[in-house]
Amino acid sequence: MATFFPISEISSYHSKWVIRARVTEKSALRTFAARGGQGSSNSVFSASLLDESGSEIRASFFGMACDKYFGIIEQGKVYTLANGNVKIANRQYNRCSHRYELVFDRDAVIEASTDDAKIKTVSYEIVSLKAVQSRALPCSVDLCGVIVNFRQPLAFTSKAGRELVKREITLADDTKTSMSIALWGERAKMEDKHFEGNPVVCLKGVSLNEFQGGRSGSLSESGAMQFQAEVPEVKKLQQWWAADGANADLTSLSLGSDGLTDLKTVQTKDLPCTVELCGIVTSFKDIFSFTSKEGRELVKREIIIADHTAMSFSVTLWGNKAKKENSAFEGNPVLGLKGVRVQEWNGGRSGSMLEVGSIVFQPATPDAQKIQQWWTEGGSTQSLTAISVEGGGGGGGGGFRAATGTASNLAELRDAAETVTAQGDVFTLVTRLALVQMKKRDEVQPLYYLACQEPRNFAGGTSTLTCNKRVDSSGYCAACGRVVKTAPRLNLRCRFSDYSDGLWLTTFHEAAQKVLQTSADEAQALETGEGGRDALEAAVRKQYFTQPMQLSVRAKLDTYNGETRSNITCIDARPVQRGSHAREMLKGIREMLAVVA
Ligand SMILES: [Zn+2]
Repeated sequence: MATFFPISEISSYHSKWVIRARVTEKSALRTFAARGGQGSSNSVFSASLLDESGSEIRASFFGMACDKYFGIIEQGKVYTLANGNVKIANRQYNRCSHRYELVFDRDAVIEASTDDAKIKTVSYEIVSLKAVQSRALPCSVDLCGVIVNFRQPLAFTSKAGRELVKREITLADDTKTSMSIALWGERAKMEDKHFEGNPVVCLKGVSLNEFQGGRSGSLSESGAMQFQAEVPEVKKLQQWWAADGANADLTSLSLGSDGLTDLKTVQTKDLPCTVELCGIVTSFKDIFSFTSKEGRELVKREIIIADHTAMSFSVTLWGNKAKKENSAFEGNPVLGLKGVRVQEWNGGRSGSMLEVGSIVFQPATPDAQKIQQWWTEGGSTQSLTAISVEGGGGGGGGGFRAATGTASNLAELRDAAETVTAQGDVFTLVTRLALVQMKKRDEVQPLYYLACQEPRNFAGGTSTLTCNKRVDSSGYCAACGRVVKTAPRLNLRCRFSDYSDGLWLTTFHEAAQKVLQTSADEAQALETGEGGRDALEAAVRKQYFTQPMQLSVRAKLDTYNGETRSNITCIDARPVQRGSHAREMLKGIREMLAVVA
C-alpha cells in the first residue's frame, strides 16, 4: 500500500508529493476578472483537506483544475491529490493553521480514493471564547461551547434581496465568557429541541465581527456544526457545566454597548436598547425567589441606581447577580453594569440585567470616581428625577415594579412570562387575531355573559361602580340578591399569531370588543336574532387576520389549586398605529443588517 505524504510536512521545499485527504469543506464557485490569455477560465473554488495525521490545509482550484474538478470533488469524500503548487498561506482568506496552502491548476492529478475512517470528518482548531476577545478582526475561528441560550429563527430579506433565515445562539465556555453566534439557513431552521438542555456544540468556521462595541460570531453555511463531537473539549465543557458552569457569572463579548451611557441619556434612547451603566445604589429590595412554569427556580432583586445627571433608574438583577449578600448593596456602592436591557414600562423606563450581563462593584474607573465624587459632594442630598415609574396604576405608594423584559413578539412573550412575578408585567406587542374559541370539547362556548348593571354594594352603602357580577339565566344577581338590570360582556379565548408563535389569551370585555370590532350588544343582537349562533360565529370569523392589532398583555404569576403558574391575559387592544410601528420595524431591520454586513 502506498504511503502518502503527510499534510503536516508540506512546505515549499517539497514539490513531489501525493497526499490523501478528506475534503472537509468545499466553497461555492467564484468568478473573478479574467487573467491571462484566451481560453483560461476565470473561476475558482477552494477546499479544506484533512489527512490521517489530523493536519489540515487549504487548497484553491484555478483554471483547468477548477473546470475539471468542481463537479467531481465532494465535501466529505476522500481523494488523492498531486501536482499542486505550494505557497505561503494568505491569512486573510485562510483560517487553516497550516503555514502553507496549495494551488491546483492544469497539472493537477486528483482521484477519488476509498474512504478511510482514520481520517476524521472535521478537525477543529478550538479557540477559547476569552481568546476570541483579543483576536484581530476580521477573522474566523473554531469554537466549542455550551449553548446557554437560543432565540427563535427569524426570516427576513437581505439588502441584496436574498431570503435569509437566521437564529442566534449564545455560547459559553469555561473561561466564563459568552458570545452570541448567528446560525443561518438549514441550521437556523433546526428544531428547538436540538438547542435545548444546554448541549455542547463545536462550530467550525465562525467569522467574528464587531457589533455595537461588542463581538459576535456568524457561522457560514460552509462551516461545520457538530453536537457531541469527539473532541476532548466537549467532555471538559460538559464537566465544567455540571460542576459550576451553570451557576457561573458569565461575561459576554456581545453586549451591544457604545461605552457608558449616563442616566439622562437613558431617558431619551430609542427602545429597546442595551446599555452599559455606572451608578450609585440608592436603594435595593430583598431578593425574591419564585418557580417558573417549567419548574425553574428563579431569583431576582431590584435596585435603584443614580448618577451625576441627578436621575435615578431601576434595574432588575437575576440569578447569582441578585443572590449577592444584602451587605454588598449597602452603603451606596458604585456599580458598573454591563448588558442592561432598557424597556418602556408603565410610561416610565426601567432596566433588566441580561443573563450574560456583568456587574462590577466599585469599579476603578474615572466614571465611577466621578459619580462617587458627585455623591459625596452633595448628590446624596440632591433630589433625583426618577426615570422609572414607581407603584403603578391604582395601588399608589407601594414598591416599584421593574419590567422583566420586553417582548417584541409572541415567542419572546412566552419566554418572558416564565420569569414574571406575582406582581406581573405588562407587555405591548403586535399580532393578528387567528382564532376565537367557539367550542370546547364539542360544547359551544358562550362568547359573552350577562353582567349585573346595578351600582356595586359595599358595607355602608352603594358606590358609583357597577356591580358587573355574572347573573344567572333568570337575571338574578347573587351579589345584589335580586333580579337586576343586565348588559352583555364579552369574555373570549383568542388565539393571536405573529411570525414567531401563536398564543391563546383570555381576552376580557374591553379588549375583546376592540379585537372583534364588535360591541357586546351587537354580539348579543346577532346571536339572539334570526341568524342565531351561526350569524355571531360568522361575524367573529370575519375578523380573523383582518388587521394587525397592538395588544396590551399582562403576564403574572398566579396560584391555582396550590400550583403556581404564569397567566397571560389580553387587557387592551387597538389597531396598529402603522406609522410608529413601521418605524420600530425599520429600526429592527437596520440592527439586523448591521449584523449581516
Ligand atoms: Zn349585582
